[in-house]
Amino acid sequence: MIVYNKRMREKAALVYNPEIKKYNFGKGHPFTSERFENFFNFLKTKLPDYKDYFEEIKPEPAKEEDLKLAHSLEYIEAMKKASQGIILPNIFQYTTFDNLDPSTGYLPAGIEMAGRIVVGSSLTAAQLVIENRFKKAIAIGGGLHHAKRERGEGFCLYNDVVICAKKLLNQGLKKILILDTDAHAGNGTEEAFWEDGRVLFIDIHQNPTTLYPGTGFINEIGKGRGEGFIINIPLSPGASDNSYQYVFEEIILPLVKEFKPEIIIRNGGSDPHFADILTNLGLTLEGFKMIGENVRKLSEICQGKEVDLIASGYNQKILPLAWLSLISGLLDLKVKLEEPTREIPNKDSKLKETKEIIKELKDILKNYWKCFR
Ligand SMILES: [Zn+2]
Repeated sequence: MIVYNKRMREKAALVYNPEIKKYNFGKGHPFTSERFENFFNFLKTKLPDYKDYFEEIKPEPAKEEDLKLAHSLEYIEAMKKASQGIILPNIFQYTTFDNLDPSTGYLPAGIEMAGRIVVGSSLTAAQLVIENRFKKAIAIGGGLHHAKRERGEGFCLYNDVVICAKKLLNQGLKKILILDTDAHAGNGTEEAFWEDGRVLFIDIHQNPTTLYPGTGFINEIGKGRGEGFIINIPLSPGASDNSYQYVFEEIILPLVKEFKPEIIIRNGGSDPHFADILTNLGLTLEGFKMIGENVRKLSEICQGKEVDLIASGYNQKILPLAWLSLISGLLDLKVKLEEPTREIPNKDSKLKETKEIIKELKDILKNYWKCFR
């Protein structure tokens, strides 16, 4: 008798601390934390044998010394106090309105600790990969790419993407790729590595003239040692799967082959989906899977080492579907997922505009990268 051993498949780490549910901005805010439980419930329904593919790992909250890799002590102290209900008269020095609970007009109670759990999850995922315990590690709740050194914004308190990459650099890594596929540009991440050069930051997002945070134009390329290592790829509202595939083939793959990263950190959740309520891109569920597949192929350049940070998405019906679709591409899992709506965009939507912007971008990047000459 032949026994087929399903467990021969290599497992991925699924890093999750249920206490992350306190990362919640309150009723009426687009970022509420039922997303995490929704995703796990959906995962268990769609893949009842998911433990054959994933090992669940519960992370600890990040320590202050780790937060300080991306934030000033003054900012961390302000977040701690404000999240304990202490009223700071200068709170708007440290945060914008979008990080406040709409019902209280103040920072949600306990969110600082929840923010540490987010960072702890992403750091744990990165450590598991760099210590060769897993090739792929997925941190649920990670990817808070808008947080800046001394200011929280865009639903992001602590920038776990930056903290992860900085910690890996401190541990001796010399080349890290951060691939940001969230619909919004990663302004906090861009700022942190603007003059660095050890991190190649590639960011695909909706055209910043049409969406928060209003940065991420093709001519933002970094400065000093970082010049040419910040790559912004703005897509027109409505851009769909074929635009993303084109970007992977024409820009991301050649760049990553030339850069040769030691590890890939990808961040971004479901908000590029066409039915997201805060954004206007046109990605379908198949498109999310295709992103995951492309990232899996890219990771072959660095022995499969990839850290995946997932949190965003503002249509709660789409969110678990899109997250799982991304993950299924990344790990080559067979899952059948269907769009909850029949009005699926044409996959060529805005492809002409994408080709034009890519042509312009290559013209800028050829000054820094041989692959575009
Ligand atoms: Zn976003």
